[in-house]
Amino acid sequence: MIISGKELSAKLKADMAVQVAGFPEKYGRVPHLVVVLVGDDPASVSYVKGKAKASEVVGIKNTTIRKPADITEAELLGLIATLNADPEVDGILVQLPLPAHISEAKVIEAIDKTKDVDGFHPLNVAALWQKQPCTVPCTPKGIIRMLKSAGVEISGKRAVVIGRSNIVGLPVAKLLLDENATVTIAHSRTKDLPSVTREADILVVAIGRPRFVTADMISDGAVVIDVGVNRDPETGKLCGDVDFAAAQQKASVITPVPGGVGPMTICCLMENTIECFLHRQ
Ligand code: NAP
Repeated sequence: MIISGKELSAKLKADMAVQVAGFPEKYGRVPHLVVVLVGDDPASVSYVKGKAKASEVVGIKNTTIRKPADITEAELLGLIATLNADPEVDGILVQLPLPAHISEAKVIEAIDKTKDVDGFHPLNVAALWQKQPCTVPCTPKGIIRMLKSAGVEISGKRAVVIGRSNIVGLPVAKLLLDENATVTIAHSRTKDLPSVTREADILVVAIGRPRFVTADMISDGAVVIDVGVNRDPETGKLCGDVDFAAAQQKASVITPVPGGVGPMTICCLMENTIECFLHRQ
């Protein structure tokens, strides 16, 4: 079974569009998401366009602010302060990565926690780990949604997450733990990775290396979630961290790249923007 993030996100966005259509009458306006793009990295430009397109579908107001790559850190922090103070801005997202002269940590911390639609602010991260109300980061949230929509039982299962970044690996592991899976987090220094991944009922791969996970690393009937977004070195096309064609033969459920986790990430960004908006009402 292939879980289509494209189909699921289309359905969820249609439901959100109905919800948002009622907001002007109820609250006098629709949610407003501001996306800040620094520089012109092609992947970032494409992600930002995807966010604007999804906002249009859902009926959310989207403003994309483009700044040159040589903007100073102080100027960017000043812009964030202005957006924080604007009562008609509900969500602020600064597209990562940023140029090397700008501290990503400072930028993430500068965004008002209540407008942090990415869920990257240290206070949101702390709240997630303490099971307090928070904005759940989009990609991990989307992954749990996909598992549930596919009817995958998480409770009591052995989950292995490869990758321990703050953005994907760690929060995915935490959400799986909250769903009562027994979770192992693997990383670049894990010894004999295949023996670890073969233990997984649910395998989440977030490494960033094309077709790194091969069929021999997957147990029969496992659920495989491929978060990776890479360029195939041979064809130049988008591909995941998992060798999809081979893994499909062994997995009971698998996500494709493109069309899997990616669309769900944007869908959950829309959901987080609506949540931040409602929280402010
Ligand atoms: P990251 O910060 O570079 O983290 C990569 C992780 O993979 C690290 O924890 C690293 O281990 C681990 N790793 C690297 N090589 C490994 C190896 N040989 N064996 C085992 N583990 C290894 O990347 P990220 O931000 O988490 O993103 C991961 C991938 O997901 C990327 O392809 C990114 O583009 C994609 N992504 C997709 C979405 C989406 O919406 N679909 C969203 C975010 C990210 P160490 O910690 O030991 O270095």
